[in-house]
Amino acid sequence: MRILIRGVAVIPKAGSGIIPRADVVIEGRRFSAVVVGEEVQGPFDKIVEGEGKILIPGLVNTHTHLAMTLFRSLAQDLPLMDWLEKEVWPREKNLSGEIVYWFSLLGLVEMIRSGTTAFADMYFFMEEVAEAVEKAGLRALLSYGIIAPTPERIEPELKKAEAFAREWDGKAEGRIRAALSPHAPYTCGPEVWRRCTSLAKELRIPIHTHLAETKEEVERFRSQTGRSPVEWLEELGVLGVPTIAAHCVHVSEKDIEILAAHGTSVAHCPTSNLKLACGIAPVVDMLKGGVNVSLGTDGPGSAGNLNMLEEMRLAALLAKVKTGDPQALPAREALGMATWRGAAALGWGKDLGTIEPGRRADGVMIRIDRVHWVPNYDPLANLVYAAEASDVDSVFVDGRFLLLAGELQTLDEEDIVGRCRELAEKFR
Ligand SMILES: [Zn+2]
Repeated sequence: MRILIRGVAVIPKAGSGIIPRADVVIEGRRFSAVVVGEEVQGPFDKIVEGEGKILIPGLVNTHTHLAMTLFRSLAQDLPLMDWLEKEVWPREKNLSGEIVYWFSLLGLVEMIRSGTTAFADMYFFMEEVAEAVEKAGLRALLSYGIIAPTPERIEPELKKAEAFAREWDGKAEGRIRAALSPHAPYTCGPEVWRRCTSLAKELRIPIHTHLAETKEEVERFRSQTGRSPVEWLEELGVLGVPTIAAHCVHVSEKDIEILAAHGTSVAHCPTSNLKLACGIAPVVDMLKGGVNVSLGTDGPGSAGNLNMLEEMRLAALLAKVKTGDPQALPAREALGMATWRGAAALGWGKDLGTIEPGRRADGVMIRIDRVHWVPNYDPLANLVYAAEASDVDSVFVDGRFLLLAGELQTLDEEDIVGRCRELAEKFR
């Protein structure tokens, strides 16, 4: 399959500048050429017109819980623990594989329509999440979320996590990779962490967890163990495995040094942190300290949606308020966090995150002819500060179009929305 995207503006890599007009060629699953100022030789199996659009690398959501679309708008504006203990956990007892499958598809429709091509997800019934991802055509790092606060929970939880990882890592033509996910240092004891670390090494897969999300959590952890959660994970040897740590809102200078030294990636989730009043993560300090900071939406039950354009904008805005410096985290850095840094966090740093010959063909075409894009002195600034999810026109992964000129290619939106509305009735 040879595809030509003709006459499109391109941001090949965050920070590399903008090509006002290029012909982009995809061969099989990879980009094969980005041509400026000359005719590209055919033949092509498909030609996509790029006029009035900008092509960017696919957005990477490095922390979410897709099927929590089920809990979107449920009992909102509560403190996190009240929301989880009184509203979510009792309802999660009634989850089934079928429900997780349909609400994952719902989330996937939303992701495609807002320009996400790859993501990291931890939840339950992960086989069904994986089946939904395979059908939708996205790329994902998936893991069963281990919650083992008491000793008798350890074995069954580890078993489920391991079985999923062994079965699904490398599936869907390599688009699905597995991870191991002890939910957080406060929900899993040292034994779980040690065993996940050695299993992750054996299977050569990453660890994906929640870390230092709230002030209370970090303070409680310090008073119980004498260490910060980051120091504690380092001592256990966990950070020797490639790790994605979601949040890291409350980290010390020493914590930042530890995260940088081990190459740990931090998934910054601005909407979730704001909505749950967790605080503002020290993103600029972490980036300066050498930490790979990417972006995530967190679950749509707590964050509202799965829109990575919004997370980019918020990350840029929050960094400015946090530091008192409007030059902090400029648009190119926000886009870098949402693209190549996210790809690196998920372990696809060599293959994804930029539009260059030889790289996997994951990309997003965004309409730049709508009113909020006028004038367009700087497309990068408009992308971060003005773009809306509804500007997303076409999305492709591995050279396969999942959205083309606003039409979904792999999923039946009407059917998915209808089923989810029906299934949600039982969860009111
Ligand atoms: Zn989360």
